[in-house]
Amino acid sequence: MAFSLVRLACVVSILPAALAQITVRSQAEDVSASVNVDALDFSDAAGVSTVISKGINYGCKCYPGESCWPSASKWKSLNATVDGRLQVHIPPGAACHNTFTGPLGTVNTYDAAKCAEVTQNWESESWTVSQPAAALWTYFTNDTCRPTQNPADSCTLGYYGVYVIMATKPQHVKAGIDFARRNNLRLIVRNTGHDFIGRSVGYGSLVINTHSFQKIEWIDSYRGPGSYKGSAVTIGAGVQGLTILSQGHARNPPLVVVTGECPTVGIAGGFIQGGGHGPWTTLKGLSADNVLAFEAITASGQYVTANERQNPDLFWALKGGGPASFAVILSVTMKTFPDVPSAGATLYINTTHTTDSNVWWNGTETFHKWSNHFVDNGLYVYFELLPFTFRARPFVGIGKTKAELQTVVQPFLDELTAKGVPFDFTIKDFPTFYDLYVDLFEAEAAGSSALTGGWMFNHQDVATNNDGIIEAFKTVLAPRPDAFGFMIGHLFNPGYGAPASNSATHPAWRNATDFIISALVVPVGSSLAQKVDLQNLLTNTMDEALRKASTSGCTYVNEADPYQKDWQSHFWGSEYPKLRALRYKWDPLGVLYAISTPGTEKWEVIEDGTRLQTGLSPAQGPGQEHGFASWSPQSTAWLKHTLKVHVEKRILLANFLITLSFSFTQVPIFYVFHLMECDVFYSNHPPYEGLGDRCSRNEIAAGTATQFSILGMSTTFCGTINLFVAGWMAKRFGPRAALMVQTSVPAIRVATQVLGVVAGGQAGIIIFQCTQLITVIGGPVGYILVANVIAGEVVEPLRRTAVFGMLQGCIMLGQGIGYLSGGMIGDAWGIRRPFEVAFYSFLVSTLYVRVSMPYIAADSLSSGSKPHSKGLAEFFSPLRVLVPQRVMLGSGVVQKHYGVLFLCAGVFLGVLATGYAPLLIQMYATAVFEFQQGDNGWLMSGFAFMRAVFLIFLFPRIINTGRRWYLARGQQETSPGAETQSRCHLAMNPEELEAPIGSFAEEEPVASAEVKEDEGTAFDLFFLRISLVVDGILTMCADFATEGWHIYFDVFSLKQSRRPQRSDAGREHRQAVDPGLIRLCFCGFGPDWQAPSDLLRQCALSWVTLRTRETKTGTEKTAKTRTIRMLSEAK
Ligand SMILES: Cc1cc2nc3c(=O)[nH]c(=O)nc-3n(C[C@H](O)[C@H](O)[C@H](O)COP(=O)(O)OP(=O)(O)OC[C@H]3O[C@@H](n4cnc5c(N)ncnc54)[C@H](O)[C@@H]3O)c2cc1C
Repeated sequence: MAFSLVRLACVVSILPAALAQITVRSQAEDVSASVNVDALDFSDAAGVSTVISKGINYGCKCYPGESCWPSASKWKSLNATVDGRLQVHIPPGAACHNTFTGPLGTVNTYDAAKCAEVTQNWESESWTVSQPAAALWTYFTNDTCRPTQNPADSCTLGYYGVYVIMATKPQHVKAGIDFARRNNLRLIVRNTGHDFIGRSVGYGSLVINTHSFQKIEWIDSYRGPGSYKGSAVTIGAGVQGLTILSQGHARNPPLVVVTGECPTVGIAGGFIQGGGHGPWTTLKGLSADNVLAFEAITASGQYVTANERQNPDLFWALKGGGPASFAVILSVTMKTFPDVPSAGATLYINTTHTTDSNVWWNGTETFHKWSNHFVDNGLYVYFELLPFTFRARPFVGIGKTKAELQTVVQPFLDELTAKGVPFDFTIKDFPTFYDLYVDLFEAEAAGSSALTGGWMFNHQDVATNNDGIIEAFKTVLAPRPDAFGFMIGHLFNPGYGAPASNSATHPAWRNATDFIISALVVPVGSSLAQKVDLQNLLTNTMDEALRKASTSGCTYVNEADPYQKDWQSHFWGSEYPKLRALRYKWDPLGVLYAISTPGTEKWEVIEDGTRLQTGLSPAQGPGQEHGFASWSPQSTAWLKHTLKVHVEKRILLANFLITLSFSFTQVPIFYVFHLMECDVFYSNHPPYEGLGDRCSRNEIAAGTATQFSILGMSTTFCGTINLFVAGWMAKRFGPRAALMVQTSVPAIRVATQVLGVVAGGQAGIIIFQCTQLITVIGGPVGYILVANVIAGEVVEPLRRTAVFGMLQGCIMLGQGIGYLSGGMIGDAWGIRRPFEVAFYSFLVSTLYVRVSMPYIAADSLSSGSKPHSKGLAEFFSPLRVLVPQRVMLGSGVVQKHYGVLFLCAGVFLGVLATGYAPLLIQMYATAVFEFQQGDNGWLMSGFAFMRAVFLIFLFPRIINTGRRWYLARGQQETSPGAETQSRCHLAMNPEELEAPIGSFAEEEPVASAEVKEDEGTAFDLFFLRISLVVDGILTMCADFATEGWHIYFDVFSLKQSRRPQRSDAGREHRQAVDPGLIRLCFCGFGPDWQAPSDLLRQCALSWVTLRTRETKTGTEKTAKTRTIRMLSEAK
């Protein structure tokens, strides 16, 4: 078997990756981008480790200790990108322990003074909020490092993140998102840490802390899109409720915003993305209803504005569609309202009033019976319910006087009195709502370990089933003899002040009366079995009772049980399918994750609550458990996820389909020209009167050859431009969109060619030649480039050569089938049909690309254009690779390097030497062995099939085996001492892990995974060299053929890496072609369409491989094989 096919595969394999690497190396500040795994998909990402747990095949995020976990140098690079604001996360309780043991090692942490501070503040909300990553409710952190009197107690990381970026600038947030995406890390956004359900903590994650975004800008008159023109405020992502209310109060006149009742909950984080309710909700709707705009960074790292005009779908989804699901919010702009005099009241019924449970429950039932009346009069009421403790504090009457509030509440008080229920009631006037807020709302505690559930009761529930609701309350407070729960109630109705929802929140909120939070304490130190038991109690006893008491309520994503069945409909109702589609649109790669938020059905945290994984086996995937069959799929992305075919295979199939579409017309096109030339000939010659084919004349053959060569030249010219256009489109609009253009525009071309076939004669020839111009936008070169770019992004570096080889194999397969079937279709159904088939085939391919290709944002491409490349420079940016590079070798010596240029020249000569061999062999076989059209058709199809089989099945194995062999050989040559020296130092001892609590991690020695991206790839270059030689020898062998089968043998073994030539157009035509024309044809078709990209890719591969080897064998061995840096970086 010849090796030139492999050469092509090698060549095809490298461009996106290697160009990216080269580009990266010329950018000192962007080293992390060399990890070329931007486009990790939930199920098929490179770098994903797979795990089989309970019979389900899972693809995992990367965790410390796994080979895909970023190396120390990458973390260091991230730290530089975020201005040194990356910290190793050590839980605050560690100060009370002798040591903290985390995934990076063990470190001494005891600090008496700090421990005293931690102990004192453990239950302080504001102190906890100020910690880098601590959670207010500790249950979901696994509570493995609480303050203690015994420093010998163990302290571990629990379910906290490993690193935290204390972001102060949007760039820091973007860097964190990009880093997590590229390295397939679990990403957590943490604002205040209030999340009841642990959504702001995540085992082994990278955390972005947004709490420093404290900017507040008051706007007198909003001028953004939409009808609202009143006052507004832009609130930074980290601002808390009380802060904004205090600042608003200080304004003249005082202003308010719809915040939560809790002073320390953030506004722009989880609160607004869940919907957000507070004391103003009855009058002004949910907080999300009052949003005018967001500034955010998407999961693909794009800065976006979302408002009614810009990204309106994202705008809608961020308003209540679920926390950490669609983008990371930088700021929110909200309506403000004038603050007004208000009245507040409190009411208590507890053991100081009665110890008779009937009396106490009677009072509670009476209160709840009046709840519709309260909200229908514009009130908001916050109340708590524990055994024998009923606290309604406060009743809030915004804009009401004490007398007005008293009037609303009086019937209820009268009924209590009539029923003999004792109580304490106070009522008071306040000059503003803010004064009421500060006086009557209380700070809440942090540091508790509890599970949270909840349900909303609407007007009908209260009106028709208040007794049932009270029975459910009893179940919540005493679900089992050995357990007790408690409840927090909120009486509000967003529909009172905002009857029509403009947000993604559940429509049922518009008829709300009472939203209940149910809670169950989980003792610290509970075993896993106890936790499971308590979760079961909350889900299936306490909350089930609440749900059963309701006719058509809903619940609140921020304050509810995430493990409940049908959470999708309970959180969002009819809005859910749209939200899920938007989730796939805005975060198709699963960079963000928060439990029970749109589109996360397939995700699961397994292995005792540690690793976040997604089910890969569709039949068994956890998503099935949620009973989702009833949701109608609304997005093509859903289809992609349902297909569940590995992304590599999807790309291979795309390459096959598109090539097939292009190949249908390749054989018929020659005959079309032949027929049209024949028409032209007889239009000015007397009619043919002889026997046989009237078109079988040398003049016609010569004319056909002329047209064909013109076509060839224009194809080469337009195809070359198409290459740049396609590359530019991929960088501008993302590879998937670019690929769709490359497949849909050719459909227009073949449709136009059908017109040409119908027109025939001179008109047909002109139409055909003109259609070549369309190739500039979408043609047979661009799609290969774009498909390779996609593959380069999603395939892990080590597999790229093999996958690119298989891609090329699929192209060959498409060609083999397309050439054969195109000719056969033409023979059987007429010359028009292959063009029509090609038209439909292009349409199908476009649809397939849309459905099956992963979405990769343009600016997240690792080979994306640099900010300074604009206009023509951006267009021709791929050529930059030819510019001599200044590189620093491992030895520290800086050199100007012309290797890429030389290699390009070498490859060009190689292609020149052997690239046209298949065509010439056809000519030779036609002339010497009298091969007919059919013979040549089989010859070329067989040639394509052989190459396809070789590339798809054998080539990957050759590469793998060869690399192993190369590595083994290299290791034998390397002395053990040198090897030890070149290894990255792993911090295993406590004293080696230097980062004290809260310190920056600039010098943090971490356990780094070995860099394996280059391992053995030097073999690829070796193979490439051999293939050129063998290719030449086999080409020469054709010269010795004495029988027809020799030709078959030679061509089949000559797995020439170039695109095969078209089938011969018939012996007579061949013979008619003048050698000069043959040369022209060769110029058109010989150096095939892939040549420019091949050359670049080839050069890039070789350059990288050469440099890598050079570095390895340099006199000064360094820690990594990849120490090539640009001079700028060295400086
Ligand atoms: C004591 C207490 C009182 C509460 N009172 C109310 C109340 O009155 N009304 C009400 O509606 N809710 C209330 N909640 C619930 C609260 O709204 C949620 O816990 C909410 O998620 C908190 O958001 P956060 O950003 O402050 O908290 P965090 O815990 O920091 O974040 C919560 C979620 O939002 C995500 N997130 C945070 N910042 C961003 C960002 N910038 N971009 C994208 N995602 C982000 C996080 O990843 C996480 O998933 C209360 C909670 C507690 C603990």
